[in-house]
Amino acid sequence: MTTATRDGFPGFGPDAPLELGDLVASEAESIVGRLADGTMPALAATLAKVGNCAHPVRLVGSSETVDTRTGEITTFRSVDEPMGRLFKPCGNRREEVCPSCSRIYARDTFELVSTGLHGGKGVPATVQTNPLLFVTLTAPSFGAVHSARDGKQPCHPRSRTGVCPHGRRLTCWAHHDIDDPDVGAPLCPDCYDVESAVVWQWHAPELWRRFTIALRRQLAAELGVTERDLKHHARLEYAKVAEFQARGLVHFHGLVRIDGPDGPGSPAPITASALERGVRDAVTAVQYAAMPVDDGDVERILRFGSQTDVRVVRDGAAAGDQITAEQVAAYLAKYSTKSAGVDPRRPAPHLERIIDSCRALATRALAGCPFGCDERVNDRRARLCGECCQNTYALLGRWALMLGFRGHFSSKSRRYSVTLGALRRARRRFQRYAADSRHRDEVLDVRELEDRLMADEEETTLVIANWAFEGSGWPRAGDKALADAAASRAREYEKWRADRRHARIHRA
Ligand SMILES: [Zn+2]
Ligand SMILES: [Zn+2]
Ligand SMILES: [Zn+2]
Ligand SMILES: [Zn+2]
Repeated sequence: MTTATRDGFPGFGPDAPLELGDLVASEAESIVGRLADGTMPALAATLAKVGNCAHPVRLVGSSETVDTRTGEITTFRSVDEPMGRLFKPCGNRREEVCPSCSRIYARDTFELVSTGLHGGKGVPATVQTNPLLFVTLTAPSFGAVHSARDGKQPCHPRSRTGVCPHGRRLTCWAHHDIDDPDVGAPLCPDCYDVESAVVWQWHAPELWRRFTIALRRQLAAELGVTERDLKHHARLEYAKVAEFQARGLVHFHGLVRIDGPDGPGSPAPITASALERGVRDAVTAVQYAAMPVDDGDVERILRFGSQTDVRVVRDGAAAGDQITAEQVAAYLAKYSTKSAGVDPRRPAPHLERIIDSCRALATRALAGCPFGCDERVNDRRARLCGECCQNTYALLGRWALMLGFRGHFSSKSRRYSVTLGALRRARRRFQRYAADSRHRDEVLDVRELEDRLMADEEETTLVIANWAFEGSGWPRAGDKALADAAASRAREYEKWRADRRHARIHRA
């Protein structure tokens, strides 16, 4: 039998089964249970409402929405919901935690980045003429590691018989694939300075902060004004993400834009090439003296690595030739949902060593505390004494699974473009407008809809809510398996649609 499918998507038809992967017995039983007790439609309706979130939040109670213009009151009660509870998506950014919510986050990040590139949602379209760079700042080398060079070149081809003090030859002729678990691992674990790598990562957010300060200083010098007066001449805006590399250290990828004094879209007083010079000089100038971990340790002067990459995305109205604005937005959105490359099910040994080192350094930093803080420091909820709280490295152990990176994975300067908050508010408003027009049996008025959604105005509705948090996650074991399967099906469908669009463009 052939299945009728929406737009011909294979596996999207009503008869196409969801691929549930390997179910454990309790999951299979609970799915059969839902089919047997007739609660499957309620689950399906709820899954659709939360967009197949893997760990929704469960709320019980009610709310009353008052339209302050008309005085109309709408009551909403969780007992009237299909599963008798109000389910809310978890909203987690991380792909491995919630595939579905992380996609919404990625989409919002894409919107946020691209409105800063093209304008829209309140950002003027003239922002397209402001000089724009794509900058990558790396960590320095702490020792040679195995690397995948597009699988085309050997990893470390050294013909000279270089032998390290530990008697290891620092050569590797393998053509590593990017998924090779050896990639990122040191050629000689004893030569690799894992402690300095951890200390660098711990202070990496501070290095980024200092970079933005140094860049403002460079721009002021370029314009011949004081740093304080810079804002009357130019504004520096950026959006950045942190991305873990195979060796377990972060890269910062940032879009750096120069606006005139009146914000996004006002004419910039300098060119992209002057901005590029400023970025390169700022990266070289930035340093941070990290204090020793303990008396047996040394002070480290931290810097960015030498492999700074600066590409011109746009210089005035002209596009840079190396990278397109769309590529950049897609790239940043993709990395905004990635986190540490530590897969808890199979952590690569060199990443485990970084985790151990984070914990060991934290313990060393507090060793000898009369209140025994060093014994409890790696405990997630431990309370430290006043003195130990002041220690820079006190919390390093708690960030061990993030390999010592405590910064934001994606962040932006205030006036880069819209905020994630504004995008979320717009989505909520849209749902309310849509529900309203359904309620009134009217067609949704789309005139200036975007302006109304993005408006920073007072809300004209008042919500009186009385909600209690019941818990998080799906009630039965098999529910999450269904959520994951449905989310992955939705993902495949989107990809299939994108591929088809792509193919159509190429045929045209
Ligand atoms: Zn979720
Ligand atoms: Zn190698
Ligand atoms: Zn060695
Ligand atoms: Zn203490």
